[in-house]
Amino acid sequence: MKWSLKIARFAGIDVFVHWTFLILLGWIIWSNLQSGQNLLQSLMGVWFILALFGCVVLHEFGHALMARRFGVNTRHITLLPIGGVASIEKIPEKPIEELWVALAGPAVNVAIAGLIALGFLLSGWEGNWLALAQPITAGNFLSGMLLVNITLVLFNMIPAFPMDGGRVLRALLAMKMGRAVATDWAAKIGQLLAIAFVFLGFLFNFWLIFIGLFIYLGASAEANYEATQSLLSNFRVGDVLMHQFTILHASNSIDYAVRLLLDGQEKEFLVEENQQIAGTITRDDLIKGLQQFGKEEPLSHILNRNLLRLDYDMALSEAYQKMMGSGIKICPVFRGTELTGVLNQENVLEAIMVQNAVRDGMKKI
Ligand SMILES: [Zn+2]
Repeated sequence: MKWSLKIARFAGIDVFVHWTFLILLGWIIWSNLQSGQNLLQSLMGVWFILALFGCVVLHEFGHALMARRFGVNTRHITLLPIGGVASIEKIPEKPIEELWVALAGPAVNVAIAGLIALGFLLSGWEGNWLALAQPITAGNFLSGMLLVNITLVLFNMIPAFPMDGGRVLRALLAMKMGRAVATDWAAKIGQLLAIAFVFLGFLFNFWLIFIGLFIYLGASAEANYEATQSLLSNFRVGDVLMHQFTILHASNSIDYAVRLLLDGQEKEFLVEENQQIAGTITRDDLIKGLQQFGKEEPLSHILNRNLLRLDYDMALSEAYQKMMGSGIKICPVFRGTELTGVLNQENVLEAIMVQNAVRDGMKKI
C-alpha cells in the first residue's frame, strides 16, 4: 500500500502502518490536551491506542498464520486508522479452511481478553472499569484493554462482509451449497443486517448508521469480487486463451505496428527479440511512442519488458489476480516451454460473461 511505513517484520511478514494513523495519534494528544489533561495523561491515551492496535496486529497475525498452515502466504499486514488488513494471497478454497482462517483472528482477541480476565480473577481485582469519555489511567488501563478485545470480537463476528463473521457465514453456507451461491447468500444477509443497523442507528445511536453503511458497501464489494473469483476458478488459463495472435519483432517500426493495429482486432501484441518473447506492447504504448519518437522508431525502444508468463494449467482466478496486480494487459501462455497462446483482460471478462449467461440460463430451466 502506498504511503505506508514499515514498522516491523515477524514470521516473515512485514507490518506496515499507514501515515493517516499518525493523524489519529496526533488527534488523540490534541483532544486530550484540549480537555485540560496534562501531557503525561495525554500520552497515556496514546499508549492505550498503541496497545489497542497491537491487539489488532495480533488479530491479523491470527489470520495470517492460520492461512500459512493451509499453504497460503500473506504479503503484508497494514494498519489503518479503521483497523488492520492482512493481505492474504488468496482465500483457501475449502470451506473448512476458510472457516479456520476467519475464526483465527477473533480467537486471538478472545485469548487476550481471557488472559486479562484470568489475571483479574487471580489477583482478586476490585474493579476499576473504564467508563466512556473517562481518561485512561494506569488503574483502568487493563480493564479498558479487556473491553477493547471483547468489542473487537463482537464487531468482527457481525455476520457480514467485510467482517470475519461474513467469511464464517459464507464458509458455513459453502459446506451446504456451492461457493458462488454461498457468497450470494452471505452478501444478501449482510446487506439486510446493514439496513437494520442504519434503521436502529436512527432510533438509538448514530454510530450504528456508520457501521451499517460500512457493512453495506463492504458487502457489495466483497460479493462482486468473490463472485468474479469463484466464476474464474471454474476455468484454467488454457480454457480461454487466444490461439490467433501476431508476434511483432523488436526491430519492427512503430509505423508497422500501428498499421497492424488499425488493420485488425488486436490491441496488444507480444514482441520477440533474439528468438524469444522479450516484452509486450499496447495500443497506448504505440500512441505515446508515435508522439515521442515518430513512426520510424523501432519497437525495441518502447516495448514493455515486464513480462508475466502464464502457465496453460494455471487457474484463471490466479492469472487474473496477477494481471490486475501488475497492470499488464497481455501475457504469453506457455505449456511447458512451448508458447501456446496469449491471454488478455478481455478474454477473462468474456469468460465471466459466458459463465454468467450459463448460470442465468440454468436458473430459468
Ligand atoms: Zn479479522
